[in-house]
Amino acid sequence: SLFGLPEQAAHERVLLATDPATGLKAILAVHSTARGPAFGGCRLWHYDTELAALNDALRLSQGMSLKNALADLPFGGGKAVILKPQGDFDRPALFAAFGRAVQSLNGAYITAEDVGTTTADMRGMQAHTPFVSGIPREGAFGGDPSPKTAWGVFVSIRAGVRLVLGRDSLDGVRVALQGLGAVGWHLAEFLHQAGAQLVVADVDATKVERAVAQLGAQAVPVGEILNADVDVLAPCALGASLNEQTVPAIRARLIAGAANNQLATPADGDALQRRGICYLPDYLVNAGGIISVAREYRGEGEETAVMAEVGRIAERVEELLQRVQVADSTPARVADDWARSKLVRMV
Ligand code: NAD
Repeated sequence: SLFGLPEQAAHERVLLATDPATGLKAILAVHSTARGPAFGGCRLWHYDTELAALNDALRLSQGMSLKNALADLPFGGGKAVILKPQGDFDRPALFAAFGRAVQSLNGAYITAEDVGTTTADMRGMQAHTPFVSGIPREGAFGGDPSPKTAWGVFVSIRAGVRLVLGRDSLDGVRVALQGLGAVGWHLAEFLHQAGAQLVVADVDATKVERAVAQLGAQAVPVGEILNADVDVLAPCALGASLNEQTVPAIRARLIAGAANNQLATPADGDALQRRGICYLPDYLVNAGGIISVAREYRGEGEETAVMAEVGRIAERVEELLQRVQVADSTPARVADDWARSKLVRMV
């Protein structure tokens, strides 16, 4: 039922935008504007069904509300997905039409990059709406959020390794990376520089070859990365990688990665906990990118200050683990409650 979603998943509004001239079919989901305008990226992806696209948009926008709240940003949560047109399409025209759809929401939703979209797409949209971020700006802070996301995941792994594994350094710590894309690659570089040993997999063999050659990584098949013999697992591809089938075989003791919506269901977080695996919630550790585009959007961005703000994600990891001990619950459930307690109107 479209209107029968559980209260937590209920959205303020969802726009289905179409533009036959360009082939645009997009879903713009505004989960919450309690803390401010809904801010979240735009995904360009091929979905098997329209319902799968809607489901993705709703899950991702809800996650953005929690992510922005936990990062103490003055923004609510939203997300957009564009259903990738079949065959060749006029990309600038498609994003112009999407920009007009964003504009029609009059600032209730602000967009930026996500999987499948680029800084060039965002720049192209500027002619149609001011409610867009993640654009390289001459003489000012801005652009690709991926390195900032990777930095936030890196400091989270470093904190988790210290607090959960009891190791003071990443030197010699084995980390499995699922996905070496925009975020995964930067994360691999940070980890390598810190002395971690990398085990990697990506459906794109050229990225794997590069990691082997440049970072001394060990390559494993895509189907084996989740149960690699490692200390830490960093899912950096797509969502729902932690599910009924995969959880029983995971050997890492700590999970922290960039991918959104890693847990297929809340029960999968419970199952990880029962297996003695600490899962650091995705929306806590991967907030670096939204912190970057949010500061850019507000004209407050400056490289050193943004990196320092992203670095403070590690303090929230520490606080979360303390809260988990007190609550005798799982990190995923405690983080959800913590974030929801911040979903209040800021005025
Ligand atoms: P990306 O598309 O650049 O990278 C994803 C990588 O995963 C690609 O290299 C792809 O080939 C690989 N991949 C896909 N399926 C795979 C599989 N089954 N096994 C192994 N590899 C696979 O995307 P990205 O920007 O790096 O984002 C990665 C994840 O992080 C996404 O879930 C995204 O929503 C999330 N995220 C990204 C940002 C950001 O700043 N880019 C911020 C927050 C969250």
